[in-house]
Amino acid sequence: MTDSKEMVEYLESCTIPDGCVIGKLCSLSKPFNDFYSNERGKVKSSIRWLHNEKLREADQILPGELAEMCTSSQENVSIIIHNNPAKISDAPTIAHEIAHVIAKDEGYPFIGHYPGCVDREVIYLCKNLGEMIHDPLVIKKLLSYGFNLQKEYADDCVEGIKAIKKINKSGIERIRVTFFFTQLLLEQDLIFEDETNPCYEYIQKLGAEYPDIMAKSREIYRYINQIGYDTPRKVRIIFDKIFEIYPNLRDLTEIYQK
Ligand SMILES: [Zn+2]
Repeated sequence: MTDSKEMVEYLESCTIPDGCVIGKLCSLSKPFNDFYSNERGKVKSSIRWLHNEKLREADQILPGELAEMCTSSQENVSIIIHNNPAKISDAPTIAHEIAHVIAKDEGYPFIGHYPGCVDREVIYLCKNLGEMIHDPLVIKKLLSYGFNLQKEYADDCVEGIKAIKKINKSGIERIRVTFFFTQLLLEQDLIFEDETNPCYEYIQKLGAEYPDIMAKSREIYRYINQIGYDTPRKVRIIFDKIFEIYPNLRDLTEIYQK
């Protein structure tokens, strides 16, 4: 996004004041208040809250997304959300996006698509590759503040799985689904004590339907657990390994790191 006068005015017209997001959630949700009090010092970027329904259609978040972080520069971040003022049910989602900002500010590498890319399949692929590591990282942090994320996880599974079933799996889609499965496996370990959860069954069923994809996901999952993903350096090693497995991804993606 450029900084033209027109753009500044447009963004202003969609902006939600901090008090209607942070202030509101701190008063509504104890886990959010604990999270924000402890973590706010780690947020180096300035965050602008944008109201999805006020944005032009092309700028709105993808269907099914609860919120999304977009970076226009290293220091500025916009987070697109649905409710103004925020509601208590938004607390985990908004804490989730803030935790992504913290990971960026701490120097964790992020994956984006190549500049100017308009191919939806590629955009989704890059998003899933990044989220495969970043979402478990964020979830681990949120759980430590007492957020209950079981429902979010179940909803994500159901949505993700619906999407998987709808698509005609091209080469790129197959890789994307591989990353999605890997993410589910990593998150399941964090959110549930054991495999007796509603999503385990889904994962098993999908695994039976797409055994080659599931085998690859399990291989990546084992590799990630072996390396760990709790420092920017380890995450970089994991992304490099992914590029070794899928060399074509190098041309489709960009890595951003502070
Ligand atoms: Zn996320």
